[in-house]
Amino acid sequence: MSVSVPGFETFQELLQADPYFGPVMADLDSTKNREFFLVDSFLFRGNQLCVPEGSLRLHIIKELHGEGHVGRDRTLQLVRDSYFWPTIRREVDRFVERCHVCQVAKGKATNAGLYMPLPIPSQPWTELSMDFVLGLPRTQRGFDSIFVVVDKFSKMVHFIPCKKTTDAVNVA
Ligand SMILES: [Zn+2]
Repeated sequence: MSVSVPGFETFQELLQADPYFGPVMADLDSTKNREFFLVDSFLFRGNQLCVPEGSLRLHIIKELHGEGHVGRDRTLQLVRDSYFWPTIRREVDRFVERCHVCQVAKGKATNAGLYMPLPIPSQPWTELSMDFVLGLPRTQRGFDSIFVVVDKFSKMVHFIPCKKTTDAVNVA
C-alpha cells in the first residue's frame, strides 16, 4: 500500500477527538488490536479508510450514492468498499431514504430507466476507483479535499490533497 499525504495532520486530530476512533487510536499498539493500523495520519481497517465524525461522512455517501442513485444495500456496499465508521449503515439508510432524486424516480414509473445502475464493467481500467472526498478542514497549505484513488487490482491506495476548485485534468 502506498500513501502520499502532505499537510494533513488535522485528520489525525479529528480521529483522536472522535468518540469511537479516539480509543482506537490510543490503543493501536495493544495486542487486542488486530483490525486497525495507521498509515501516516490515516487510520485503516483493512482496506477501509476510517472516517471520523463530521460532514465528511455525508460527503462520501452523497458522492457514492449520487453516481447512479442505486439502492440502500448497493450504496452501503459502495461506501463499505473503501470506508469505515461505526454508524455507517444508519447514515446510509437515512440518506438514501431522503434522497430527492430517488423519491422522484419512485413516484414516476416512466422515469425509472434514468436511474438504472451502471453496467458491470469488464475492462481492467475499471479496477481503478476514483472518489472525490470533500469537506476536510483547511490545512496550512490550503488543501481542503483529498482525491482518493484506489487501485483494487494492486491494492494500492493513493491520497492526493487538493482544493475544491481543482479540475480533474489538473490533479495529475
Ligand atoms: Zn438517490
